[in-house]
Amino acid sequence: MQTIDTDFNLDAFLQTVPEAPARILMLDYDGTLAPFRAERHLAVPYPGVRDLLNDILSVKRTRLVIVSGRSIRDLISLLGLAKLPELYGSHGAEYLAVDRKYHRRELSAVVAEGLLQVAEWAQKNDLAGIIEKKPYGFAFHWRGLSRTRISNIEKNVCNHWESKASKFGLELHQFDGGVELRPEGIDKGEVVNRVLADAAEGAVVAYLGDDLTDEDAFRAIRGRGVSVLVCETDRETSANVRITPPVQLLNFLRRWV
Ligand SMILES: [Mg+2]
Repeated sequence: MQTIDTDFNLDAFLQTVPEAPARILMLDYDGTLAPFRAERHLAVPYPGVRDLLNDILSVKRTRLVIVSGRSIRDLISLLGLAKLPELYGSHGAEYLAVDRKYHRRELSAVVAEGLLQVAEWAQKNDLAGIIEKKPYGFAFHWRGLSRTRISNIEKNVCNHWESKASKFGLELHQFDGGVELRPEGIDKGEVVNRVLADAAEGAVVAYLGDDLTDEDAFRAIRGRGVSVLVCETDRETSANVRITPPVQLLNFLRRWV
């Protein structure tokens, strides 16, 4: 990974959007469209984002895809849009098409047993209060906790599960605000590959994300579209360009409309 390519011209890219034969816009949710909240169920989009997404959907010239680690049920209520775009939830393990057809990945017996053990282990280790059960795994959230407590939780989870996870077909993934255990082979890079598999020739494509889990998508889109890191500060990334939320995010969406 490297830091941002300062020669990348986002303005020139956005000028190609109106004339393109097709447009695909993939957006992460938390940290990208919505600011982080310790109360995760209250993390609604930045003011102005909903209107712009509704505009993009009503113009019907863009294939709009939301790609998130959240469940689809969560995404629908937090997005609060007039019409639903395509939704990939649980890092791509769940999919809701625009015609409302829902697909989900089946869990193997081994993975299901592993997830059961994670839940029991969290209970025994007094972590039940910070664990979130997802349709496809568990996230340990530590946003808002003290540095000492975070470091203890991280050590505890990683020491125990780093060696055991693969036995159950699970993987540990760091994200901004915690660590997550989920089945192998589910990541946002796979989602990008699926979306682009039937992309029209000459389509203009962009992916916006903020987190470490978005780096898989940034790598997958390389050579086929533009990756945008939505983040206040610079960091190591595979993205082409960085924008700061919410002002530059709103500008990007406004110009896309
Ligand atoms: Mg995010």
